[in-house]
Order: sequence, then C-alpha cells, then structure tokens
Amino acid sequence: MTDFDPPLRLHLDGNALVSNWRFLQGQGGAACGAAVKANGYGLGAREVVARLRDAGCRDFFVAHWSEAAAIADLVPPEWISVLNGIQPFDISSIQQLGAVPVLNTPNQIAMWKASGGGACHVMIDTGINRLGIGPEQIANDLFDGLDIDILLSHLASADADSEQNGRQLAMFSQFAKEIPAKRRSFANSAGIMLGPDYHFDLTRPGIGLYGGVERAEMATGISPVAHIAARVLQVRHLNAGDAVGYGATYICEEPTIIATASMGYADGYLRSFAGRGVVYADDVALPVIGRVSMDLITINASAGSSLSEGDWVSLPFDLPELSAQSGLSQYELLTTLGQRSDRIWS
Ligand SMILES: *Cc1c(COP(=O)(O)O)cnc(C)c1O
Repeated sequence: MTDFDPPLRLHLDGNALVSNWRFLQGQGGAACGAAVKANGYGLGAREVVARLRDAGCRDFFVAHWSEAAAIADLVPPEWISVLNGIQPFDISSIQQLGAVPVLNTPNQIAMWKASGGGACHVMIDTGINRLGIGPEQIANDLFDGLDIDILLSHLASADADSEQNGRQLAMFSQFAKEIPAKRRSFANSAGIMLGPDYHFDLTRPGIGLYGGVERAEMATGISPVAHIAARVLQVRHLNAGDAVGYGATYICEEPTIIATASMGYADGYLRSFAGRGVVYADDVALPVIGRVSMDLITINASAGSSLSEGDWVSLPFDLPELSAQSGLSQYELLTTLGQRSDRIWS
C-alpha cells in the first residue's frame, strides 16, 4: 500500500474524552458507562472504548451486533450491551459473541427464553414510546425465568426542563421496585445533569463524552474532543461580479480572495452550513461562501490574505456553535462525519 497524506484530518483529543467521562461520572455515586454506538458517535469506537476502559469504564452500549463484534477483542463481552435487541436469525451468532442483548419486546423475551437464555438486559418504555416494553405489555409472568442484569429505560426530554422527566422518573422508580434485576440504568448525558435521583446504579452517557453540551449545566465540565483541519487546495483573486460555486449562489461584491479547501458534504460538512459556516486560518474567522460541494468548500479568505495553497484551515468542533450555524443537532454533526479523513488521536 502506498501512503498518502489525506488533505483532511480529524484531530481527536483522548484526554478531553476521558475528562468528559470523569466529569459525568463525578455527578453522583453511580457507575458511569458509555454509549459508543454508531462507531463511537463517528469518532472511532475502538479508540474510544480502549481509552475509557483504561480510565475505568466497564459498560459499553452499542446499537447493532456488528458494533459489538467490532469491539469484542477490547473488553470482556459481558461489558457490551446491544440496545437494538435480538432477531431470530442472529441468535446463534449472538450466543457465540457473548455480548448482552437489551430485550425490548415480549417477543424478544420469548425468543431469548426459548434459546436457552443467559444474562440479559430489559428496556422498559416509560414514555418515549420508541423502543422498549410498554407498561400495557407487562403480564404477570413476562419476566419469569429471565436472568436480568440491567433494567433500563430512556428519557425523552432530558435536554429540556420538561415535566415529562419527573413523570418518567416516577414510573421507572416503580418498575425498579417491581421487576427483579441486578442493576438499574436510566440517565443519558443530559439525564445525568437532572440530578442523582435520575442515576440509579449505572448511567449511560454518549454525546457528553464527545463534547456535546445538551444542558447548560454541562458547559463547565465538557470540552470539545474533535477538531478538523482541511488543506487549502487553491487560492484565487476574483473580481466584483464573479460568481462562486454550484448554482452561482454567491456573487462577489468587491474584489475577493477565494480559498478552496478539501472538505465537503461527503465528509459530514453538510450543505446547511452554506452562507453560515466559518473556518479559521490561525485565529482569523473566514466565512464559508457559495454551496458546499461533495469534496470542497469555498471560503472568503480576504481577511486572511496570507493564506496560500497547501495551508490548513481549521474547524473546531464546538458542537453547540456548529449546531447553531447549521441547524443540525450535535448528534448529527458527529455521526455524519465521513470516513476518508485521517483520524489522529492525541
Ligand atoms: C444513545 C443512547 C444513550 C446515550 O444518549 P446521549 O444523549 O448521547 O447521552 C443512552 N441510552 C440509550 C438507550 C441510547 O439509545
């Protein structure tokens, strides 16, 4: 294989990741797990799992079985929980792998019992009405013969001061008394910040680990983990009246220096940034102008006139800020990151 130097780098700060996990862990006495689904929210599940394992994390949550298999050599399989549950055709591979399913429906529970069972987790729906056993589905004998490790439920509105949070907490507390399980887990990142009543035995943050700030209380303890550097491929001097990019959506009002950099929507820099995004040359903010292309953005570099071909522009992943610029959620900003950049961990 020939080595190339990709013109797009995703810099990842391992110390920030670990310090974010410690901040969330330190909010109460419960154990703190980590949601590493969708390839560690786009940053690289293997790198994330190895670092958090070394910091003391013992519970990792993925959505798919393939995601469990991808990290199964890094931690004991029983530390991995698979949120999306089981399907009949997967059962034998699941038992071989040894990661633990989160059973979400009466049908999944019946399948697990019929297959011989073993330790499992159970998701109860307390109001998100998305995935999990609904209160109306709980029959007297539903859980008989199950070896339940974690009883889970998931908050719908933890990022807001919604009355729904208290209602879900009351319902989960009741189920936690009635359903026999070794451990109970309720709070995601924002849920942790609602206070220790919400923590039970184990919390399972995702977005906060990766620098997301979903409640104001998180701002003091959470730092950005990612930052992108894109290489400038060309610098041009355009005249007033010249148009830039697909659809000629930007017309220069005056003589303008344009820099074209190697980052586009295929890298997760979606078209919703057009006209609102900003990248930095050293500390100078430069507006992204015209449409975002698949592989390229165009930048008004008039304010950074020393910028030249081969230089790097940077995009710090201040997630609340980028979310405001693009209208994308902090979750979407991370999980749509492309695969062709170098991921460089420090
Ligand atoms: C994704 C997910 C989490 C983590 O949520 P964040 O908001 O990213 O902290 C926790 N629990 C479940 C069931 C999830 O699907």
